[in-house]
Amino acid sequence: MTDSEPRPSAPRHPGTNLAHLGDFNQAVVLDAVRRAPDGVSRTVLRDQTGLAAQTVSNIVRRLLDAGMVVESGKQTRGPGKPRTIVKLDPDGGYAAGVHLDPAVITCVLLDLAGATRARAAIPTPLDTDPHRIIALVADQVRRLVDESEIDRGRIAGIGIATPGPIDEDASEVVDPPLLFGWHRVPFRRILAEETSLAVESGKDTAAVAIGEMWAGSDTADDFVFFYVGTGFGVGVVHAGEVVRGTSGNAGEIGHIIVDPDGPPCECGLRGCLSACCMPSNLVREAESLGVIPDDRVSRSGPAISASFTRLCDAAGAGDERAGAILDTAADRVARGISVITNLLDVDRVVFGGPFWPRIADRFLARVPGIVDELAIGREFHSPRVDGTELGEDVGAIGAACLVLSRRLGVRSAKLRIGP
Ligand SMILES: [Zn+2]
Repeated sequence: MTDSEPRPSAPRHPGTNLAHLGDFNQAVVLDAVRRAPDGVSRTVLRDQTGLAAQTVSNIVRRLLDAGMVVESGKQTRGPGKPRTIVKLDPDGGYAAGVHLDPAVITCVLLDLAGATRARAAIPTPLDTDPHRIIALVADQVRRLVDESEIDRGRIAGIGIATPGPIDEDASEVVDPPLLFGWHRVPFRRILAEETSLAVESGKDTAAVAIGEMWAGSDTADDFVFFYVGTGFGVGVVHAGEVVRGTSGNAGEIGHIIVDPDGPPCECGLRGCLSACCMPSNLVREAESLGVIPDDRVSRSGPAISASFTRLCDAAGAGDERAGAILDTAADRVARGISVITNLLDVDRVVFGGPFWPRIADRFLARVPGIVDELAIGREFHSPRVDGTELGEDVGAIGAACLVLSRRLGVRSAKLRIGP
């Protein structure tokens, strides 16, 4: 390799030359190509992956035939024969991603490079009947595909991110809060039937973590993603893998006690993160104190979201009581986070989710300082705290990545549910 040849970052998993692991090797090679936006030669791919030259050559041929990579000129500088550069073809495949939050349904269409080609967000209907919601999701995906004018035949599938708990073995969404009428809903199977596309699914907190890992610019291998939607939870990434837990339900943090004198929680304790800081509870507190009008006619996700916006707007306009509610919540969230960052010794905390942009400035003004203050190892390392660069779409992007991972990445494949 010459100095002038592109040096992509190393793939996250070395390859193996065992023949029966062909798909694994293909994923490793594709991952290496993906990480080299300017293209990469077969020689560099061989060096990067540790695979035999013939193996790399065969895989690149397969990827070329599948339209997933293209040859893109030759590298002529330096000694030796000119080397053909191989690049990812972003139009070589697509994945749809759907994030179902009780307040908002977000859909994205990603290309093979992970770029968002189309997006849409709609309020979750007040009638949350599962069949109605799933039909709506199928319709949204169809519309995105039609509007983007891409080749439907190149869509690898749809990824869905839902609130937990989920039953991974049965591919069912089990009693999610605020999605009334949902009990053991086989979302994945029904959507596959509605769309005739392959469907992958995962919990929202895992999806945001994988979205950040795939598309975020920070490459930390250990981080905690604090998801702020109608509900909240954390996605934990350890050594570059999303921690799923035994049943796919890792990340439930609602009952970490952050204020022993705080409000009673449904679990019987006081001052749990959930009781103190969940948007629905902050809204209820603001209503009971007269900070925002108590004229909400439903406890649906969109109604909570609208009232939460009122609360945040009031705080932004200088209402001290509204500001105090949010600041107290930020301090309590920071305490909860410090339990996790100390437990796992991570060096990064990322916030994001549909409700996050409304509180981002306020939380980022307070949380980093408290997390630092409470960090056990603060003398030599303290976690960085910031917001995701992927905005409100992070959950949908992560869901789409569940699909892309089957072709592009090795690590996230474990997030698949079922066969
Ligand atoms: Zn509790």
